Order: sequence, then structure tokens, then C-alpha cells
Amino acid sequence: RQDKVIQGVRLADYTKQNFRALLDEGLNEGERRIVAFANAHTINLAQKDPNYRRVLNSVTVVNDGVGMKLASTMKYGRGFVENLNGTDFVPYYLANSEKTVKVFLVGAREEVVKRCFDIWRSQYSQHQWVGYQHGYFKAEDTEQVCSRIKAANADLVIVAMGNPMQELWLDQHLEKTGASIGIGVGGLFDFTAG
Ligand code: UDP
Repeated sequence: RQDKVIQGVRLADYTKQNFRALLDEGLNEGERRIVAFANAHTINLAQKDPNYRRVLNSVTVVNDGVGMKLASTMKYGRGFVENLNGTDFVPYYLANSEKTVKVFLVGAREEVVKRCFDIWRSQYSQHQWVGYQHGYFKAEDTEQVCSRIKAANADLVIVAMGNPMQELWLDQHLEKTGASIGIGVGGLFDFTAG
């Protein structure tokens, strides 16, 4: 597997099977990993914001969409092995993970995250659905949110607050939540809640 660098952001190149296995392995070992799905918009933001670029280069970034494929083809003469966007990959992961995962959702409006939580809990009942939190809490309530996630013993925190907020939030707070994996998913809770 070879990383690719698109406009200063390092992207990994996984099939969804390989990426699923990598995350499962990380859960076994309790290693901490933040996942970002980068599309053309993400890369544009990173170009303008050196701090966001630094954060992205410290996490696992995978390729979302045709813009990334084009950029890779222009620079490396080939695209990525697969398009890995959160909207497809997260449901795929929940359906195919070989682990029983304790999942906590953070982000979107209260009714949206609640509905998404209820839908996923019934759809992926092999996992443990340990809690949710809407994405409009005040900065001063952040510690309390992290404590709730920790008390719930979550392994996986799925964060839907958009780029760049979700990745910046995970970079600053994943460790305090005690969770192993943090994934930023943009508008996925809204899509799922319908
Ligand atoms: N959001 C949030 N808190 C905020 C701003 C946005 O939880 O302070 C949520 C918003 O409700 C939506 C998600 O973040 O569910 C962002 O979706 P968007 O489609 O903008 O993200 P993208 O996929 O473009 O990164």
C-alpha cells in the first residue's frame, strides 16, 4: 500500500475490506486512530488552513470522490484502489465489522442524531449503541460530553459536524473520550435520518 500526497495532504489507499480489517485490528489492540474522508472540498480547506492541514496529516485520511481520483491520476498516473466515502463506508463497516463495537454518535441536530441512532441500533443490533450527543453544544460543555462518552465505555465515536470541525474536534478530544477510533462523517446522520 502506498500513500499519496494531494495538495499537501497525505492520503492512504485502501480497499474497503482492508480498511475494515485495519479498524477491527485497531479495536483489538486499543490503538487510537482518527479517520477523515477527504473530498475536494476538504483538500481546499486544508490548503487555506495550515492548522487543518497539520491535523489531517496526523490522522488517517482516505479518498472520497471523483476529485481525489482525478488528482491522483494526474499526479501518479493512477487513481485509488477504491472510493472510500463515509456515507458508504460507515454503514459497510457497521454491517461487516468482525468486532462487537460500542458506538457513540456526536453531531447534527438533536432530532437527527436521535433518529440516526435509533435506525442504526435496530439495523446493526450486533453492536452496542452506547449513546449520542447533538453537535450544537457550547465549548464549555465539551469536557462533560467527553466524560459521558468515557462513562459509556465507547470504542468508536462517529462525529458529524462537517469539515473542518469534526476532525479538529477529534484531534483535540478523542483521547479524553477513551474511545479507540474516531471517524468524521459530515452529513451522514442527516442522510440516514432522511
Ligand atoms: N453540525 C453540527 N454542529 C455545528 C455545525 C454543523 O453538528 O456546529 C452538523 C450539521 O447539523 C450536519 C453536519 O454537521 O449534520 C455537517 O453536514 P455537512 O453536510 O455540512 O458536512 P459535509 O458533509 O459537507 O462535511
